[in-house]
Amino acid sequence: MTQRTTALNAQRRANDLEALAAGEVVDVLVVGGGVTGAGVALDAASRGLSVALVEAQDLAFGTSRWSSKLVHGGLRYLAKGDVGLAHESAVERGILMTRTAPHLTRALPQLVPLLPEVSTREAGLIYAGLSAGDVLRRVARTPSSLLPRPHKVSGPEALALAPGLRREGLRGGLLSFDGQLIDDARLVVALARTAAGFGARILTRTRVLTLSGTGAEVVDELTGSQVDIQARSVINAAGVWAGNLVDSVRLRPSRGSHLVLDGTRMGISNTALTVPVPGHFGRYALVLPQADGRVYLGLTDEPVDGPIPDVPTVPESDVDFLLEVASTVLEHPLTRDDILGRFAGLRPLIDLPGASKRSADLSRHHAVVRAPNGVVTVVGGKLTTYRKMAADAVDAVDLPAGPSTTKSLPLVGAAPRADLSTVDAPARLVSRYGAEAATIHAMGELDPTLAEPVAPGIPLTAAEVVWAVRQEGALDAADVLHRRTRVGLVSADLEVAMPAVADLVARTLNGLTQEA
Ligand SMILES: Cc1cc2nc3c(=O)[nH]c(=O)nc-3n(C[C@H](O)[C@H](O)[C@H](O)COP(=O)(O)OP(=O)(O)OC[C@H]3O[C@@H](n4cnc5c(N)ncnc54)[C@H](O)[C@@H]3O)c2cc1C
Repeated sequence: MTQRTTALNAQRRANDLEALAAGEVVDVLVVGGGVTGAGVALDAASRGLSVALVEAQDLAFGTSRWSSKLVHGGLRYLAKGDVGLAHESAVERGILMTRTAPHLTRALPQLVPLLPEVSTREAGLIYAGLSAGDVLRRVARTPSSLLPRPHKVSGPEALALAPGLRREGLRGGLLSFDGQLIDDARLVVALARTAAGFGARILTRTRVLTLSGTGAEVVDELTGSQVDIQARSVINAAGVWAGNLVDSVRLRPSRGSHLVLDGTRMGISNTALTVPVPGHFGRYALVLPQADGRVYLGLTDEPVDGPIPDVPTVPESDVDFLLEVASTVLEHPLTRDDILGRFAGLRPLIDLPGASKRSADLSRHHAVVRAPNGVVTVVGGKLTTYRKMAADAVDAVDLPAGPSTTKSLPLVGAAPRADLSTVDAPARLVSRYGAEAATIHAMGELDPTLAEPVAPGIPLTAAEVVWAVRQEGALDAADVLHRRTRVGLVSADLEVAMPAVADLVARTLNGLTQEA
């Protein structure tokens, strides 16, 4: 097994592309650099297979950066009677939070406010569901010290947890805990880098034009040159675009929208709110506090027809719905003036021949399908279960390799929680880079200009930008601002940060070229 550095950068990309253009045959060619494709690359590479991953744009360019950033315990599947899927989710949540990515995950307290709109009977049913979710946690052996048991809280306790709650008629709340990612895109980057450490060739800006069971014709989007990549097996993990590459794969994308709001203004800091949608029992909006003080308010579920856009947009109808529902539980109703940003993603829902037409049931399952030409497609599922999806996809290719080892394979930066609390770096860096935060912090100590924020009011430091380019495969300022960090979610922040980051990225890229 080739053990290489986990650093991804322009120089490594050029070398990897050259090796493939020269005729190297890889065991597995993976298409798509979202959570599924990066997970497949890691699964295959860590089994000792040679791997190339090609991504048309950037790591986490697609749906994987537009999620709610939750590592679900499977409660909603349990509510639908799908115990198998719920169990799978709870197990995968436990693996991420305790072994593979403790540095990127935290326990998120979630409160269902008990206001007059929620009847006593309804509250009883919700609490029974939360308790069943806790049984799943125990079955998955995730400790209650990490995800505490659900319990009821009084009105004053609910207000202490979420001061922005509507006071009138508040009789308490139902508090439970689930997993939250610091940033979905950072999980994808960590997966890709960990795979690179096992020798995987990770090629962004490399678009597949045609795909077969023995390789792909790709175009290098940076130069326009075309390359034939040869492979013993091919796995299509192109998410909502998977059907563009394999005719037999049919998807029914569904849009989910979020708004970005200011937590201080809303009176929301650490505890999420699960807000029942009036008149729709079992349907909820989510008020999700983030580590940077922002709040993501989601989420819609609307079928989308027609060509798949690169970056989906949020329609005004989704904005109205989200503001209206969240306002039912807040002391100060939200208006459009509260919106700092908005984002939407498309769920890759499966529409396989003979499959149920009820998308709400089917969509969260994943499928591994082999086309007549031998291409294996892995699609559907969700971020939480990427590891299981990846293992199933690699199991489906016809190559001599041992079983998956990713259950106990820590991603770059991972460390036990106790060790993370002793890393010599500010908490903000540790929550984003885990054990690697010490190196990024040290860069700033050696060169104080690197410890400075890139622009006034933006917490991102110059050291993080340099790190993104040298270690995390960022090829331009957009990669840094939209995917290695999420500064770009608020357009006012993006505007302020862009010039300094573009300059820093150019200088760092230049330095890499000179070193090579
Ligand atoms: C609004 C929303 C909220 C969600 N919230 C959660 C959540 O909280 N928790 C959870 O577990 N799940 C959640 N999900 C589900 C989860 O986000 C997705 O299931 C998952 O991100 C899909 O990842 P993927 O890698 O399969 O697809 P993608 O992330 O879309 O990756 C596919 C990649 O393929 C690339 N590609 C496409 N065509 C080509 C080509 N020709 N050549 C090369 N590359 C190509 C694309 O650029 C893209 O980067 C949510 C989904 C949505 C839409």
